Amino acid sequence: MSTFENWNKPILAGKKAKKEPIRRNYLDCKDLVEPEVYELLVMLSYKRPKNSESELDFISNYILSLGAQTDQFNNYIVEVGDISNNPILFSSHTDTVHRTPGRQTVMYGDGYATSTSGECLGADCTSGVWLMRQMILANIPGVYIFHREEESGAHGSKSVAAHRAGWLRRFRATIAFDRRGYSDVISHQMGRRMASEKFCQSLGGILNAAHSNHWTFDYVPCPNGTFTDTANYEEEIGECTNLSIGYFNQHCPDERQDVYFITILKDALIQADWSKLVFEKAPNIFESYNHYTPKYQTKSILPQKNVVSYNYGGHIHGFLDEGGENIEKRNENSLILYNQGWLDERMIEFIRDRPYITATMLIELGYDLEDLRKYARDTLNPKNV
Ligand SMILES: [Zn+2]
Repeated sequence: MSTFENWNKPILAGKKAKKEPIRRNYLDCKDLVEPEVYELLVMLSYKRPKNSESELDFISNYILSLGAQTDQFNNYIVEVGDISNNPILFSSHTDTVHRTPGRQTVMYGDGYATSTSGECLGADCTSGVWLMRQMILANIPGVYIFHREEESGAHGSKSVAAHRAGWLRRFRATIAFDRRGYSDVISHQMGRRMASEKFCQSLGGILNAAHSNHWTFDYVPCPNGTFTDTANYEEEIGECTNLSIGYFNQHCPDERQDVYFITILKDALIQADWSKLVFEKAPNIFESYNHYTPKYQTKSILPQKNVVSYNYGGHIHGFLDEGGENIEKRNENSLILYNQGWLDERMIEFIRDRPYITATMLIELGYDLEDLRKYARDTLNPKNV
């Protein structure tokens, strides 16, 4: 789809890309890559279940060192410059979905970073933290918030929304760097519009305007967002979005980060003309329908036909009844295995026991069976980007 997929050259200074990609232990890359790329690789080596010692080390090394202040909920905040002309809250999160804390070996080559730990790489959201760090070091005006406990229920941002509404109202837009892929500017999270089309186009536009000899960006508005911290701010901030930052297969052992892409994105974020953003949507304005399931909009009763084919006999079935189900099943098993650290077992138990109420809630949030199938395909098929 984009020029990035044809770009296979590693950023190994002075080396030419060979046919067989050379993959190196990140520690051996120190003299071969730009210092900020090396820093990203080192940052990716921290496995950070919520409130783990390695998460606190990571925060101290890469966030507190920026002069960040903590709020009463242990989120970290950095203010850069005068934001009156650039009223944007940039967002990422400090935790990852690793099961175990500590450090891991990161491999780099062929333009990609991966892990060898058998757990995820954690580019979700290490790469977002790295981008914000680079923007802060480059003095790009804005307020930068590093959220805690996103993966276990977005507790950090929930607390901010609950207790600091007045502070949030300073901002016209909030942008999370917390999305897979290359090209999404998220307009809808959980089926609900949270950013206007004009805003998403303008944000895509200022990034797409960045050029080099080797690539073009193709950021476009995308309504298929799931959930990230910025969704918690929809009542206070008009434009709440989430941006693709070039990782794939997040939460899985084969998660990878396109390092070439993210370095180019970093340059674009630093060079972007932020004054060209168009703020259209006011906070707390909700569309009277959502794009996923307008047909269910006026119904609070679950349409029977959508649930009768489900079989919850002790397993999570229901959206895996199409082609490719064996691959999806296998990947689902590994997803369950590797997400044990952050999935709430009691919630899984509840869903098993009460599938109808769970399906009702999903439908009321705007999701239908097709959305679940698509989510399963997107999440469980490694090649599906
Ligand atoms: Zn994330």
